[in-house]
Amino acid sequence: MHGDLETHDASAPIFAPEAFGIADAEAELIAQARRFGARVLAPRAAQHDRDATFPLENFRDMHGEGLLGICIPKEDGGLGAGYRTYCLAAAELGRFCGSTALSFNMHVCSTLWSGALSDDLDMSAADRAAHVARRRLHYRRILDDGAIYSQPFSEGGAAAAGGVAFGTEARPTAGGFLVNGKKIFASLSGAADYYGVLCTERGEGEAPSRRNTLYLAVPANAPGAAVVGDWDPLGMRATVSRTLLFKDVFVPEDAMLMPRGVYFQAATRWPHMFLTLSPTYMGLAQAAYDFTIRYLRGEMPGTPPLKRRMFPTKQIAVAEMHVTLEQTKALWFQAISEARPNPSKEQVLRAYAAQFTVMENANALAAKAIRTCGGQAMLKSLALERIFRDSRCGSLMLPWTAEICLDRIGREALYEPGETD
Ligand SMILES: Cc1cc2nc3c(=O)[nH]c(=O)nc-3n(C[C@H](O)[C@H](O)[C@H](O)COP(=O)(O)OP(=O)(O)OC[C@H]3O[C@@H](n4cnc5c(N)ncnc54)[C@H](O)[C@@H]3O)c2cc1C
Repeated sequence: MHGDLETHDASAPIFAPEAFGIADAEAELIAQARRFGARVLAPRAAQHDRDATFPLENFRDMHGEGLLGICIPKEDGGLGAGYRTYCLAAAELGRFCGSTALSFNMHVCSTLWSGALSDDLDMSAADRAAHVARRRLHYRRILDDGAIYSQPFSEGGAAAAGGVAFGTEARPTAGGFLVNGKKIFASLSGAADYYGVLCTERGEGEAPSRRNTLYLAVPANAPGAAVVGDWDPLGMRATVSRTLLFKDVFVPEDAMLMPRGVYFQAATRWPHMFLTLSPTYMGLAQAAYDFTIRYLRGEMPGTPPLKRRMFPTKQIAVAEMHVTLEQTKALWFQAISEARPNPSKEQVLRAYAAQFTVMENANALAAKAIRTCGGQAMLKSLALERIFRDSRCGSLMLPWTAEICLDRIGREALYEPGETD
């Protein structure tokens, strides 16, 4: 026990199972993700970041490990992780490669939203039976063939923030839909086998409505689907989030990842679904802290064994980082643990607060790590500068950007539904 206090174990779980009450089966899955991240993701991260190339081999290896099916129900052959287990496992991946963890989230949501989350929502018995049969088709593609799903919903307008109906439209046609529209910042574009497109079903003469949002798996090789533009951003470079165009792309009925009306129901009744962008950044926050401890102790591989920990200013900076990290962990753990359908107002406000805190603090910790460790620590031969750039992207993620979280907390704390001045 005393020995634990004398060493910093950067390979320890972010959330110690015994301290956070994480049961064995859940802890084992999370540990599997952590081992995989350290062994497979970390060595490949720098090159893909530099070249802005998609780490397809990471996803091939995740298929081999069963991780592509982490949230596919056990009865369908997956690992059966629920919401919290997934979040904790994804955070462990985020410590080692932010881009892979973020892209992985897009893929996993296609199974989590159609799986455990949909099971919590209302559907007629007929809709549920059809849904369970359809999702099996998607699950088999993932488990048998290693199919990768992405999740493009951003369009560059107000739709991704949840304000208006998606401009990308699905027109009903014989046997399926014709999809037309454009998605920006679509992680995994060119790498995914299926694009899990959020779009508005719109019949002839119908006005667009958010209630008619459809979640469709469009095959990447479908005629009329194209990837355009380049991707040369500040951070999260290996997500390769280019623009997708859809021109009269036919998809059959069984492309539906959720039945009609269920995405809208999820967005209103299961709001924590949008918190799934945060685990990557929880991992990056931990990585920035771990880096700082190892570096100041003179234990960072690739650097001389020079200790810098004896300066009081470093100790204060590390203490402040530790406090920030613990605050972030505590709030986030509570929010992901209480995610459920029909959360209370207090729980929803806490989810916004958790998203805001993780996204802002990940980058604040990375910035402080650079200041505290010093100039040699930000060389591109080390991971810290990538952590800094990747973590900067978190608060930009719609629909819960940092600004939107603050906006909603302020409004919803001061106004009850229906109240005006
Ligand atoms: C690395 C990375 C990967 C991504 N991957 C994906 C992906 O796979 N799929 C996907 O769909 N999207 C993805 N995104 C896109 C992301 O969710 C945003 O859509 C993207 O950052 C573009 O935002 P924008 O500039 O168009 O935002 P805008 O809509 O122009 O908004 C600009 C800012 O204004 C504020 N704002 C916007 N609307 C409101 C409002 N109603 N109330 C208050 N404030 C508001 C927000 O803070 C926002 O940051 C990714 C983004 C990044 C950075």
